[in-house]
Amino acid sequence: MKHVGIDVGGTKCFGVLVDDSGDVLREVRYPTPHASELINLLEAMFRELEGETTLGVGVPGLITADGVIKASPNMKGAHNIAVGPELRERLGIAVHVENDATSAAFGEWKAGAAMGAHDAVMVTLGTGIGGGIVMGGQLQRGANGFAGEIGHMIIERDGVECPCGRRGCWERYASGSAIEWLSGGIEGKSVFERFHAGDAHATHVVNTFAGWIAEGLASLTNICDPEVIVIGGGVIESFAAKIELLREKFSAALYSSEMRPHPRLAPASLGERAGAIGAALLVADSPR
Ligand SMILES: [Zn+2]
Repeated sequence: MKHVGIDVGGTKCFGVLVDDSGDVLREVRYPTPHASELINLLEAMFRELEGETTLGVGVPGLITADGVIKASPNMKGAHNIAVGPELRERLGIAVHVENDATSAAFGEWKAGAAMGAHDAVMVTLGTGIGGGIVMGGQLQRGANGFAGEIGHMIIERDGVECPCGRRGCWERYASGSAIEWLSGGIEGKSVFERFHAGDAHATHVVNTFAGWIAEGLASLTNICDPEVIVIGGGVIESFAAKIELLREKFSAALYSSEMRPHPRLAPASLGERAGAIGAALLVADSPR
């Protein structure tokens, strides 16, 4: 069967047509419209991709089980948009709407770097930190579908302020936006360039940054005991060959490090397609 998945991002909507194993057959992209036009665009994209019976949509924000967007921080006017119910009515197919980080995690699990794993944690280090947790061969959604918000795990009490309203969240220390803060105002990309060129200050910043990432990964390992941790997002691409540094810090941050098997740290393999592929494959896995 052919499934359509669409990842609704802050600036673009990226759609794919995939087969049952997640191989991409076609893809399209459009600028993200005002929220009032979103349902029309999703319908048009589904028709353009010639999907058959299912549509999965990944959206940042709070989504109900029925597929209603309650709030989406990066989309103007996104409040109570009945994407799922409306598209089911218009298209007469199964439609599932999911948080975008959860969709991306599902994609990496079903068709990417965590394929075949029974227990896995997916971490996306972007502007913030998104994630997804698979335990016992099941994607964990929690009682309300909000599980896996690993970026807001408190890592330093009364620490740096977070847009979520709290302080000391992991994503303030270990996401792309943290590098500028850690470096005293130097842009993240430039810090990594200087680091790769051997600059002493940049090396210190990147070491500190890798340490913060490792602290969070160690806590997640203590909670979930995964066999693999998949790390994606723009930040990890900047690390390039230096993922060894992250492994070192992670190993040092684990308790009884020498007494236990360590989870594999694997770079994500689906890139920007992870969310759309995951959304497409999620439909087969969801009740609606
Ligand atoms: Zn937070």
